[in-house]
Amino acid sequence: MELLFEKSHAGRGCDLLPPLDVPPAHLMEGTERRTPLRLPEMSEVDLSRHYSELERRSHGVNNGFYPLGSCTMKYNPRIHEETAALPGFAGVHPSQGADTVQGCLEALYLAEELLCEITGMDGMTFMPAAGAHGEFTALLMVKKYHLDRGDTQRTKIIVPDSAHGTNPASAAMCGFTVVNVPSNPQGGVDLEALKAAVGPDTAGLMLTNPNTLGLFDPNILEITQIVHDAGGLAYYDGANLNAVMGVARPGDMGFDLVHLNLHKTFSTPHGGGGPGSGPVGCKRFLMDFLPNYHVAEGEHGLEFDRPCKSIGSVKAFYGNFAVVVKALTYILTLGAEGITEAAQGAVLNANYMREMLRGTYDIAYGDGPCMHEFVLTLAGLKKEKGVSAMDVAKALLDHGIHPPTMYFPLIVEEALMAEPTETESRETLDRAVEVLKTIRAQADTDPERLHTAPHTTPIGRPDEVNAARHPVLRYLYPEERT
Ligand SMILES: *Cc1c(COP(=O)(O)O)cnc(C)c1O
Repeated sequence: MELLFEKSHAGRGCDLLPPLDVPPAHLMEGTERRTPLRLPEMSEVDLSRHYSELERRSHGVNNGFYPLGSCTMKYNPRIHEETAALPGFAGVHPSQGADTVQGCLEALYLAEELLCEITGMDGMTFMPAAGAHGEFTALLMVKKYHLDRGDTQRTKIIVPDSAHGTNPASAAMCGFTVVNVPSNPQGGVDLEALKAAVGPDTAGLMLTNPNTLGLFDPNILEITQIVHDAGGLAYYDGANLNAVMGVARPGDMGFDLVHLNLHKTFSTPHGGGGPGSGPVGCKRFLMDFLPNYHVAEGEHGLEFDRPCKSIGSVKAFYGNFAVVVKALTYILTLGAEGITEAAQGAVLNANYMREMLRGTYDIAYGDGPCMHEFVLTLAGLKKEKGVSAMDVAKALLDHGIHPPTMYFPLIVEEALMAEPTETESRETLDRAVEVLKTIRAQADTDPERLHTAPHTTPIGRPDEVNAARHPVLRYLYPEERT
């Protein structure tokens, strides 16, 4: 497919600017461009077709089933877009005085109150722009908390081996040393290993529960107690709260801080690179460390407050406000009952699909029930038939289904991690199970066909390593190429 730059024709255009209705501003001497900006020039219809074609070539929640584990690709109701686009929300400027944006502040205030109730926290910031950014923000708070108490020894963050890759990365970004603890045979945290890992140098623990195996750790209270007894803080990676919202709260499990991904659990479209929102909640004793600009009640209504020991700002202004409006709409639409039902539906759907596949595929840590997601291991299939998790994932594309997450969590060989979410019907799940069974049968009869899948998509098996190592992030005009 040709790029916009390649479709461009000098002199064509579709720029219709309204007449200037304010005095013209003049640029400072020497700041003007020396050469004209080289943008694609094309007619509106060609531009429109270009993006429609791109849309046809990609797979989104609106195209079909998207059981991408750990990503919660649920359906995002359109009403969220409508509320976020209301002029009072979309048309304000972040530099406006607080007295002129009381409605926006109320939205932030209410979202904080509701999400604190859902997580069992006392205060929350909406500044972080994504999950990993939330982790980073929370760890800065952990660091400052210990230093503020004069405790300079705490340089280590404990992370289980089933953790999302962003956890150790965020800890390292904050200057902490990462200590890995292994999982036990049931897929939970190995308590003896945790006890051996904690000490006077422990700053905290980062934990996902239910973890990336889709399992709720039955020892959770003991785990957070072990960390607290050692003087560390317990941090909950709540990127995916879909199994527990309205049912169980990180705050009641002993956690001191939590981040949420509003762009997963709280229903903002994602996967295309943003915008997202990774709010961080904390218990009262940590609220002084929250980032700047926390909405608080003041003398003249709501205002922005700077917590006294704040870690400072982690993003311009107040984060991705529109995403918070969408999450607020979602929570208010569902209500307390609906939030709980959504979590229950997510868990039911995952268990249903998992049980329907039992016997066809091997389930990793499959003894007890799962939460919102489950992990298959295709190690046996690969050994016997030479068909890998990659082959099955690619074959699903030919049936109009987005593959589950592949090769994650790292502790499961040939992993396929599926998260159906609560917004899918039983018919959709049944069809996906049928497709997965068909593919499994094909592994016996025609494995070659699976090695070369997909056969119906615009691209099949891109060179992912090359793309990651040598990303092409900008178009190069022919004369710029060497
Ligand atoms: C998605 C996810 C993250 C990271 O969130 P981003 O918004 O992609 O930065 C962290 N932890 C877990 C468990 C996740 O599923």
